[in-house]
Amino acid sequence: MAKALDKKDRQYLWHPFTDQKGWEKSEPLIIERGKGSYLFDTKGRKYLDGVSSLWVTVHGHRKAELDRAIENQLKKIAHSTLLGLGNVPSIELAEKLVKLAPRGLTRVFYSDSGSEAVEIALKMAFHYWQITPSSVSPLLRGRKRGGKTKFLTLTNAYHGDTIGSVSVGGIDLFHKTYKPLLFKSLKVPSGNIQALENILKTRHPEIAAMIVEPLIQAAAGMLFYPPGYLKAVRRLCSKYDVLLIVDEVAAGFGRTGKMFACEHVGITPDLMCVAKGITGGYLPLAATLTSEKIYRAFLDHTFYHGHTYTGNPLACAAALANLEIFRKERTIEKLQPKIKLLSQSLKPFTKLKQVKEIRQLGFMVGIELNIPAQPVILRARKLGAILRPLGNVIVLMPPLSISEAELRKLVDITYNSIILVTSD
Ligand SMILES: *Cc1c(COP(=O)(O)O)cnc(C)c1O
Repeated sequence: MAKALDKKDRQYLWHPFTDQKGWEKSEPLIIERGKGSYLFDTKGRKYLDGVSSLWVTVHGHRKAELDRAIENQLKKIAHSTLLGLGNVPSIELAEKLVKLAPRGLTRVFYSDSGSEAVEIALKMAFHYWQITPSSVSPLLRGRKRGGKTKFLTLTNAYHGDTIGSVSVGGIDLFHKTYKPLLFKSLKVPSGNIQALENILKTRHPEIAAMIVEPLIQAAAGMLFYPPGYLKAVRRLCSKYDVLLIVDEVAAGFGRTGKMFACEHVGITPDLMCVAKGITGGYLPLAATLTSEKIYRAFLDHTFYHGHTYTGNPLACAAALANLEIFRKERTIEKLQPKIKLLSQSLKPFTKLKQVKEIRQLGFMVGIELNIPAQPVILRARKLGAILRPLGNVIVLMPPLSISEAELRKLVDITYNSIILVTSD
């Protein structure tokens, strides 16, 4: 049975972000079930889930409350549209999201993935300036409406894989093939406040919005901005009347040690994108949150955008249960000692010649190596942990619910894997 599945996987599937040629040659690993911090494959082997099933799992796999919430919703209805109708869990969730989000974000527009949440934010920001009289902005007085059509983005940015989100991306390896297909955006070196001010000062009349990942560029390999950068971004966007889109898709829902990364510096963006951890890692769901000012601008202008499964009741029920667990189990509070333990146990890595740098924010860790990361990842599998590299960076992003003992084990496996590949 396991062997037959291996064969069919190779025969019928095309895996995302995967070198298919390497895949065809490597030993297959097919996950069959999960429990807590562990994944089990079709051959009965057990692995620590070191990347939260690609940054989504929050309270672990097979969390009873999450399973139950979906089962209970299933007994009522699996799907009903939000186009012109409402559904119960999507409303209850929107209220909870608004109450949790940075103050000033008051409206929730649903979609199904982080990339879509970004597309929506981009289209809303663009559309907003098409319908906003230039008299609203003293900086634009005398100019004609709708001149603000460009987006300002950062080098190394990652905002998803659809064409709009790729257009505001800055990772050449992923993005350069599609260049002729993309809309042009203005790019500034990430983390450089002076460069940002310079471009905003001269080009703000053309810029609709700036989009940033908060505090840390995750997909680029967990790269940090210098302290004060995100705050400066907020201040400068306000000064030059440019909307600020913050992409909390990776950082949101506790990953950084706070519910949203924006909370670390106390800023409110004009638009905020969330996805990944929103359902605790159970079902695809995303949302774009906006200020009331942006929402109000659209009262006489329909926003012609909506995905068929927008606000899916099963996904929203899972998200509600996810947030309820955060409250009941005080997930964020209980995470703090584990964040400390993680940084303590990462210290010995700095002594390894194979390690160039360790970067950590909460439960987001990048271990940059001087050697290729892929062999280390394969070695870690043999020792019982699933990891995934970003170039030559090993990412650790365990579920927030991981126990201290499991966390130690994950770090040990990573450490030993680095040593073992180089001694092979
Ligand atoms: C993963 C990610 C996205 C894309 O989300 P998908 O659900 O994969 O479309 C966008 N932005 C950031 C910062 C991400 O980490």
